[in-house]
Amino acid sequence: MSDTGYWLPFERSHTCGDINDKRVGETVYLMGWVAKVRKLGGLRFIDLRDRYGKVQILVDPSNADVDASTKSLRMEDVIAVEGVVQARPDEMTRDDSPSGTVEVAAARVVMLNKSEVPPFTITDNVKANEDLRLKYRYLDLRRRPMADKMVLRHRVILAIRNFLNGRDFLEIETPMLVRRTPEGARDYIVPSRLHPGSFYALPQSPQLYKQILMVAGFDRYFQIARCMRDEDLRADRQPEHTQIDMEMSFVQEKDIFELGEALMSEIFRTGLGIELTTPFPVCSYAEVIDRYGTDKPDRRIGMELSTLTDAFGQTDFKVVADAIGRGESVRGFVVPDGNKLARRDLDALEASAKAHGAGGLLRLKREGEGLAGPVAKFLDAAVQRRLIDASGLNDGGLLLAVIGKTPWVSHVLGRLRLEVADRLEIVDDGKFDFIWINEFPLFERDDETGQYSPCHHLFSMPYEEDIANLEKDPLRVRAHLYDLVCNGLELASGSIRIHSRELQERVMAVTGIDKEDAAKRFGFLLDALEYGAPPHGGIAPGVDRIVMLLAGCDSIRDVIAFPKTQKATSLMDDAPSPVDPEQLEELHIAIRPPEA
Ligand code: ASP
Repeated sequence: MSDTGYWLPFERSHTCGDINDKRVGETVYLMGWVAKVRKLGGLRFIDLRDRYGKVQILVDPSNADVDASTKSLRMEDVIAVEGVVQARPDEMTRDDSPSGTVEVAAARVVMLNKSEVPPFTITDNVKANEDLRLKYRYLDLRRRPMADKMVLRHRVILAIRNFLNGRDFLEIETPMLVRRTPEGARDYIVPSRLHPGSFYALPQSPQLYKQILMVAGFDRYFQIARCMRDEDLRADRQPEHTQIDMEMSFVQEKDIFELGEALMSEIFRTGLGIELTTPFPVCSYAEVIDRYGTDKPDRRIGMELSTLTDAFGQTDFKVVADAIGRGESVRGFVVPDGNKLARRDLDALEASAKAHGAGGLLRLKREGEGLAGPVAKFLDAAVQRRLIDASGLNDGGLLLAVIGKTPWVSHVLGRLRLEVADRLEIVDDGKFDFIWINEFPLFERDDETGQYSPCHHLFSMPYEEDIANLEKDPLRVRAHLYDLVCNGLELASGSIRIHSRELQERVMAVTGIDKEDAAKRFGFLLDALEYGAPPHGGIAPGVDRIVMLLAGCDSIRDVIAFPKTQKATSLMDDAPSPVDPEQLEELHIAIRPPEA
């Protein structure tokens, strides 16, 4: 033990969070960071911080040694303090922390390491911009709100492990260096030195491995899995994310829903101490698009969509009559507090409808038994009445409607609905609204190329009654494919899988993967399916999004210790970076710089 700072001068006896009025009179040995130094009435006070809390250290300058060792202390210096816990004088007590009524009278203070002046102050409400916080992430993570999120994340993951262990799930790791995986995003690839010209992929998910584990007989598998996808980043995406990857044998959709509900209940109990109401409602994909114009509905905001085409009927209002003649629909939703939308809000909503490709935005306000608004004069009393009934328009409410083909028109309204909620600030942040979406279509089609691709991934089991349509009318094939959505965020996706090679090959063929190609890319899975693959299914809730919801923050980056920026860079360690020419040489790789 020494005072040089290279070695600890003594053993730590307590953490800062463990100092409270029960310890008055005890000698304690603390270590941590200088959060603040101030002078008052000839005394010096140091706030000492560690991950557990903050405690006030009192320096009496009459102790010459302590005075000397604390004179030039600066913020974020790391120190060790020996001292006695004592009650603070009445006028100095604070009730915002357990250590607020006590302080530690320093008998010895040892500098363990000095700190540069930090580029931003370590406070709860940091002013620094996010780039600076990401560059100095170790300082950012010292802030209480960030540390709390890491603690929350840890507790949630621990609860998940315990919960799944209690239900006989085995945690099994799958490889990080894999053959290209088929989640539909771009792979990150890793060159093989031993096999020049060949590459591993980083897993987009452990999908194929978890299915093969079912073939191996591990009927309940999970993994807190890192998934890497080289996608353009959106606000709630990261190039690498973490999911609770799960798979079960001999199950149906309803078993996975029950598991998902019990798991979410455990997570919310642990994270927020609240009880969720289960079972969660279930809504088919077709119905959710019809009602909310999106497959990720935020139902907290109400304002469901309705179809108004029939209510217009044989209208003289030309714009609508022509559209109906072309086979288009009129759909809309009611803003109950219509008066709260100012003119400029409405103009902005109209502009946004147009930006999404709509011809305009119909606005009709209910006044008593009739309608008012720019186009009301074109609508006779009977049409007005039918519109009120069809949309459920309340007195003072505003009906916003768009004309176009379904489901396109529903998607436009789905976006407008969210914009209205944003403008009116009607989202109840304290509410968690869960819903399962199921009966997704198995395929979607690229309008330009006519190419079919899986809506989720290639391995979802079609509905039995739709299998006959696989080749004839792929878009009509529904799959046992489900999402769990909470407050408009997709928290989990999963499906019951295909466990027959023949059916799997038929599904692949629809997406343009012929037998030969399938054998080349997925042969190991297809082979495994031939050795007694059990019926199985799974789901994968996203850890980052769940913790983000629990923490009540808007950015997924805030719940990841070392996240990447929107441009997929890490500001702290400057990844990605060029590598040495020798390293490239070994890998037989030459770089062709992008054209200017
Ligand atoms: N592998 C899927 C995904 O990562 C999840 C699943 O189907 O279980 O989205």
